[in-house]
This record gives sequence, structure tokens and C-alpha cells, in this order.
Amino acid sequence: MRGEFKTGMKAPPTHAPKVLLKKPKIHVVSFGCQMSFADSSEMAQSFLNKGFSSGESLDLADAVVISTCTVRQHAEDRAISFIGRLRSWKKQKPHRLLVVAGCAAERLGPKIKERFPHVDLVIGAKSIEGFSKIIEDILSEKYDLAAESAADFPQTPRLSQGSACDFVTIMRGCNYSCSYCIVPSVRGREKYRTVETIMEETKAKIASGVKEITLLGQTVNSYQSEYQDKTVKFPDLLRILDRIEGLKRLRFMSPHPHYVTKEMVSAFKDCPTVCHYLHLPLQSGSNRVLKMMRRNYTRELFMDKVRMLKSELPHLVLSTDAIVGFPTETEADFDETLSFIKEFQPAWIYSFKYSPRPGTLSSMELPDDVPSPVKEERLARLNDLAREIGRATLKGKVGQTVEVLEENENFGRTRDGFKVKWKGGDKSIGEVHSVKIVDASDFLLIGEK
Ligand code: SAH
Ligand code: SF4
Repeated sequence: MRGEFKTGMKAPPTHAPKVLLKKPKIHVVSFGCQMSFADSSEMAQSFLNKGFSSGESLDLADAVVISTCTVRQHAEDRAISFIGRLRSWKKQKPHRLLVVAGCAAERLGPKIKERFPHVDLVIGAKSIEGFSKIIEDILSEKYDLAAESAADFPQTPRLSQGSACDFVTIMRGCNYSCSYCIVPSVRGREKYRTVETIMEETKAKIASGVKEITLLGQTVNSYQSEYQDKTVKFPDLLRILDRIEGLKRLRFMSPHPHYVTKEMVSAFKDCPTVCHYLHLPLQSGSNRVLKMMRRNYTRELFMDKVRMLKSELPHLVLSTDAIVGFPTETEADFDETLSFIKEFQPAWIYSFKYSPRPGTLSSMELPDDVPSPVKEERLARLNDLAREIGRATLKGKVGQTVEVLEENENFGRTRDGFKVKWKGGDKSIGEVHSVKIVDASDFLLIGEK
């Protein structure tokens, strides 16, 4: 059955006549995290290589690829509901191809096709590297692609169309085993892309108009690979990419505290493109909870890294992730998270209510015993604190003149990651402006040129 194909397996021949696709269009939708967004860009490339062009809207699309995430239940639910809504899209033109890919596809596998027979292909996150071959098989079996459209090849996929920023995945999977996290089971262990591939993709994106690249990986700074007979570690990769002509800004997401080293800090200091912003996921401020989460650090160790970063890079802006309501989390544990955040002072926090994910250690061995209203209430308190710190950080910027990269037609961003809207001067996506900050609201700086 289609939905059960794995990488490298050829589709069984069908005897249905081929459909002629003239100037076919692909529409890519991603639900959830930035990794899933970047995966969808890579998958789009397989279609573009076969002569498809990017479709702006669902109505015009001949193929839809849905890139799914399963880290939290909410992202998975949104993707599932979207797949259901595409029943009528498929019914209107039965030649249309519907592909569901990514982490939720890996977790749910054939269940997706059982529930949604209008889905043509389910490809799990572990098979993404074989995506191109699988698509090639299915396209050549079902369609005659008009020769004229294939002339568009090669194109560089730009999912963030109309933006000066894009992502490059440098590694997949994760070697950690945080007890709440589904990533290792749906994405497998760490696999690194080669330095050559990363450079090639970065250069192609820059050639297509991108000015800022965010390197992606679940523990992005554990990256290592062999290149020109040497082992390239993450700080070395930053130095290599920093030299690429036309790159204005380099960011990365998400680093693990364990790999925050002096070498990484030196690369920050030496590489002009590397932005002085770091997302460092904490999860909890309580050592008891961190231990149950299997995060492999204590609050003291984490704070040592924060102190080192702040003293070496005084202008570095930090942000973080936190989970509230982890099994058995008491008021005292949660207070430790709040007190830690007060000392840490991240400029913003992505905060989540714990949700048990199937097959994870915490879901199997620990009761989801923090009542929902308590999770809500802790989340609200954490968000209040985050807003307070964020507001003070933003107010501190008022009066400064900052470098803003115009990301898209609505806003730009400072090197340290703050969103800016400003008046005056000509607008042009990808331009760098010098903007005087005159005001600040909760998550936005207001400027004048
Ligand atoms: N690799 C990164 C984060 C990956 S998942 C790291 O090591 O931190 C992104 C975020 O989702 C996590 O940082 C965590 O805060 C949140 N998350 C993951 N699993 C979760 C779960 N079961 N319940 C609630 N939040 C979760
Ligand atoms: Fe998940 Fe932990 Fe790996 Fe991050 S480090 S992806 S939270 S297992």
C-alpha cells in the first residue's frame, strides 16, 4: 500500500493511464516547529526538480505536501484537522497528489491512510532523505509531466517567500532522551549533513535573495562532521559559513547547554555575521524536576553557562523554553522555575503546558497528575513574568540606534532578535537600516529613520 512505503522502495506499477500535468504546482504547508518548516522546504525541492513550480494557493495546487510535527499534541491535532479538510480538495480533481510527511506521519504511520483514504502518500520523518526518490517514482508512474515545465529546473525552494530570512537544517535527530520528548523516537539518533551540502544550500539561498540564515537542529551545537580531512565542530561550522559572500546574518536554533563552550563564544566574537542572540532551553528551574526530565544538567550548571555567556558577550540576548506542570511538579518546584527565570532574565520565553506524548518515558512511568487548571494558572504566572522581563528589556532599547534587517514588508529585526516597525526612509526587503528606537510595546520596538 502506498502509505506504507519506506525510503528506497519502488511503487508497485498501477495500470491506470497517466495524467498529463501541464505547469503543475505544489503547495507546501507546515504545522509546528521550525524543523518541520525547513523539512517542507527540502521536500518542495523534490517537486521543483521534477518541473513543478510553487503554488501560492491550495485551489491552484496539483500537489500538496503537509509537513507535520508531533512534539506537542496541539501541532499534531492542527495537521490532522487540515488533512481532513482536504477531502473536498482532492475530490474536485482526483489527479491531485496529497503527501503527509514529518514527525506525526512517522508516529501515526498507516493509521493516517486508514483514517483518510484521500491521502496518497505518508512519509515519516526518518525517511525524509529518501523523499526525492519516493516522489520521483510516484510522479513518473502517475503523471506525464509536460516538458516545458521541467525547464524551470533547478530552482531553490523559498518557503519564506517575500522574506529575507530562511533556514538550513544542519542535523537531524537527537542523541538525548529527555523523558517528556517524542523527538528521538520519531526522528532517530543524530545525523549530520555534510559541510559541503550545508554550504551549497546556504549559497543557493543567498543567491535567491536571502540575507539571514538560521541553522537548525534539535541540539544544533552538537554538530560535527568530517571536512577536508578535519573534524568540523559547531564553532568551526560557524566560522566556515561566516565567510560566505552575501550572508549578512547567521543564527541557530536550538543549542543544548552542554555544548555551550568557550570555543562557541570565540566564534561569536570572531564572526561578524553571527548574531548575538541565543535560545537556550531551560525547561525547569527545579533540580528535582530536571532530573526526572533527564535533562543532564542542574540549575547550577545551567546558570554557570548563562553567567559565562553574559560576562563574555555582554550584549548577548537570551531566550528560553519552559514546561509547566511536569508530572509531580509542586508549587515549590514551580517557584524554583520562577526564581531561576528572574535571575536568568531571558528576553522572551516559549512556555508550554506539559502534555504526555505516546511512548515517552514520562508518559509511561509518571502520572500526568498536575490538574489542568493548575497548569493553566502556572502558565499564566510564567507568562506574566516573561512579559515583565520582556517589557523592561525592550524599554531599555528606547533611545538607541540599532541595525535593522528588513525581513518582509511588515517588519524588520535587530541583530539580537527584536522585531521592529519603523517610519521613514525607503523600504526594500533585505536592506539593512539604521533605525532610532523611539518606543516599545510588549513584543515590538517602534522606530524612526
Ligand atoms: N531540542 C530542544 C527542544 C525541542 S522540542 C531542546 O533540547 O530543548 C521544543 C520544545 O517543546 C521543548 O524545548 C519543550 O519546552 C517543549 N516540549 C517538548 N515536549 C513537550 C511535552 N511533552 N509537553 C510540553 N512541552 C514539550
Ligand atoms: Fe527532545 Fe531533549 Fe532531544 Fe531536545 S534534547 S529534542 S528536548 S530529547
